[in-house]
Amino acid sequence: MKTRISADIIRRFEPLGEVFIDEPLARHTTFRTGGPADVMVIPSGVGELAELVRICTEHGLPRTVIGGGSNLLVGDRGIRGVTVCVSADSLGKSGLSIEGDSVLSSASLCKKEFVTACAGEGLAGMEFMAGIPGCMGGGIIMNAGTVDGNFADILNRIEYVNAAGEVKRLEVTPSMARYRRLDVEEGAVITAGWFRLRRADDPDALRQRIREILDERAKKHPLDYPSAGSVFKNPDGRFSWKLINDAGLKGRRVGGAMVSELHTNFIINAGGASSADVRGLIEIIREKVYTIYGVTLEPEVRLIGEF
Ligand SMILES: Cc1cc2nc3c(=O)[nH]c(=O)nc-3n(C[C@H](O)[C@H](O)[C@H](O)COP(=O)(O)OP(=O)(O)OC[C@H]3O[C@@H](n4cnc5c(N)ncnc54)[C@H](O)[C@@H]3O)c2cc1C
Repeated sequence: MKTRISADIIRRFEPLGEVFIDEPLARHTTFRTGGPADVMVIPSGVGELAELVRICTEHGLPRTVIGGGSNLLVGDRGIRGVTVCVSADSLGKSGLSIEGDSVLSSASLCKKEFVTACAGEGLAGMEFMAGIPGCMGGGIIMNAGTVDGNFADILNRIEYVNAAGEVKRLEVTPSMARYRRLDVEEGAVITAGWFRLRRADDPDALRQRIREILDERAKKHPLDYPSAGSVFKNPDGRFSWKLINDAGLKGRRVGGAMVSELHTNFIINAGGASSADVRGLIEIIREKVYTIYGVTLEPEVRLIGEF
């Protein structure tokens, strides 16, 4: 059931950024699926975000954060309460500043812009990010990465707003890094990160390497279709794509959702898929892989909202 949010509270949200009522989340996810957010706010700055969080806490309103929506499966019935969107047009400073080898990035900056700017300055160490969609905040909290590296490897410090609406800074230590997750206090909304990079010996070779990574990804990933990247984490010592492939699930469909023929750990929206289709396919894959191999696949994609 929709969360009742009074007109008075909506009026308090309005000076804090852009406010949308019943905003279709399919517009904000790379799967292009997902029902409406009761209320979505795109905060215009860190102070505004902190005030927004305080209001939500004060009134006991459920609060969900989204970034670029590239790792999300949002239920077809949408998200109750307040959805806080920290993506390209939020926080008023989609910027980054570079001082020597240290780079400060807003959580709202797209990874693509981060990679381009750092490569332009001849700074290396972030090449693994090339081709990973979404924003820096989503990358930080997901500890996004590839076999070549993860966010936590190059992250020194983060800034975030906690559940009480306070702006905090925290040094990042190796013990906080988990597989596709950074261990930060519950309810934290990441607003910025400080990254430690290094001068490339050969800036042209660095830029060439990034082009190669993008080319390799374009060959291996079904980028012509909406998706949320790899659906399942790799179980210890195994590859999810291989288990799914060997289970004979390549091309398997539920409604408009389909196991990609190019990369079997991707589910694509082959046309008109609902989130229920994707979730149905996820369940079929998990069941079949468990029955054949005794392995429980854990989703890497985050399922949020009501299905
Ligand atoms: C084609 C494709 C390829 C991909 N390849 C990779 C890959 O190689 N490696 C990889 O790791 N991932 C990959 N992904 C998944 C995804 O792009 C990453 O996980 C990305 O870092 C998510 O960022 P986002 O801004 O889109 O976050 P979202 O998808 O919007 O959110 C993901 C999670 O982070 C939380 N979140 C987002 N922003 C914030 C914030 N500011 N503060 C607190 N919490 C926040 C959300 O609540 C949610 O739980 C791929 C996705 C696609 C579509």
